[in-house]
Amino acid sequence: MLWKAGEGRGALTLVRRYGGLSALESSWNQVGIMRSTRSDWGVWLVICGWAVGLLGPQVLGQEALGQEAEVAAPPGFQPIEISEEARRIHFSGSLFDGHNDLPWTMRAQANSSFDKVDIAQPTSFHTDIPRLRAGGLKAQFWSVYVPSSTATTGNATVMTMEQIDVVDEMLRRYPETFERAGTAADVRRIVAEGKVASMMGVEGGHSIENQLGLIQRFYDRGVRYMTLTHSQNVDWADSATDEPRHQGLTEFGKEVVREMNRVGMLVDISHVSPATMHATLDVSAAPVIFSHSSAKAICDHPRNVPDDVLRRMPENGGVVMVTFVSGFIAPTETLKREPKSRGTVYDVCDHIEHVIKLAGIDHVGLGGDYDGVTSLPYGLEDVSKYPAITQILLDRGYNEQQIHKLLGGNILRVMEAAERVAAESQAASPAGQR
Ligand SMILES: [Zn+2]
Repeated sequence: MLWKAGEGRGALTLVRRYGGLSALESSWNQVGIMRSTRSDWGVWLVICGWAVGLLGPQVLGQEALGQEAEVAAPPGFQPIEISEEARRIHFSGSLFDGHNDLPWTMRAQANSSFDKVDIAQPTSFHTDIPRLRAGGLKAQFWSVYVPSSTATTGNATVMTMEQIDVVDEMLRRYPETFERAGTAADVRRIVAEGKVASMMGVEGGHSIENQLGLIQRFYDRGVRYMTLTHSQNVDWADSATDEPRHQGLTEFGKEVVREMNRVGMLVDISHVSPATMHATLDVSAAPVIFSHSSAKAICDHPRNVPDDVLRRMPENGGVVMVTFVSGFIAPTETLKREPKSRGTVYDVCDHIEHVIKLAGIDHVGLGGDYDGVTSLPYGLEDVSKYPAITQILLDRGYNEQQIHKLLGGNILRVMEAAERVAAESQAASPAGQR
């Protein structure tokens, strides 16, 4: 989703995109009302014209002119053929993706209704059930993202709860495909049963509206990580794509991290500034995650992870789930020449290898950001394409055990460690005695 896309380059773009969001939603609502109550096509067209005229350059136009249509595949790029061996390795692993924005796409494009868009059938989105099966997806953190602008409009928590409802409805609607998981042990059991283990991730600390108690409430609804910020600072932590205000975490920000440790919710430091990354690594008693970030040394974007942070991952025990977003994976030099370059699956594998080089094979994973962006690399266009990564890493000399760690073994280990920290913390300080 483009207007979700905190994944653009530059805060101005982000503000412009987010500025358009609530207006777009309300314009859609108005169109919906007009359609249901009047058959006056003239009025309907005027409203559509108004919406396109007002918002087109910001939202609809960018969607229509999406990068994918404009940029040719790099010379010599061929679709990746998956060998028998790569298929065997890929499908015997537990592919566990860190970030998928299908819930927001359902809201923005289908009024959050699985009657409107039935994901058991092929959709125009990046994600649907036939393709996630083809891609070998075994477990997913579904993002319950809401825009950071909701921090100022006062409806961040309510909208986040609505997004959790969308995921709940998906699990109810497709029980043969999805099952809710609460722990790493649940994930292992559900994967063994052939279903997609499903958890949620809150994308941005604005969703808790400065209330520590909401962390437990979100956890109780199935949320297993929270990204500390999205594209804008929150009152207690700096974002990578905003002006630094707190130089990391405030005292309350540290309290948030400790409460997440106590509850057993993973602390996600994608989207935050390097100072916030370091401050979180200093405070967190549990391993942290980057649910969807790549390596800054290869693509010099503020959203990516700097080398000095990658080097701290072994000590922390966490995992960097490499994302596929074009603007974060195309190499710096390529983007200078060709700002709209989509990059390729080979570039994504270069990021994976860089994380392995600096942090180690135990600290890398995948967080595609499917349905969160419009532009994805060649070879990774939708959720059916994950096996290409397995193929390329196999070709580059990685073995089955290493590839299985990347696909899901590492994030499962991190979940187990966070569960242990929570259990110890709750035993030491039971609820009500804190
Ligand atoms: Zn994001």
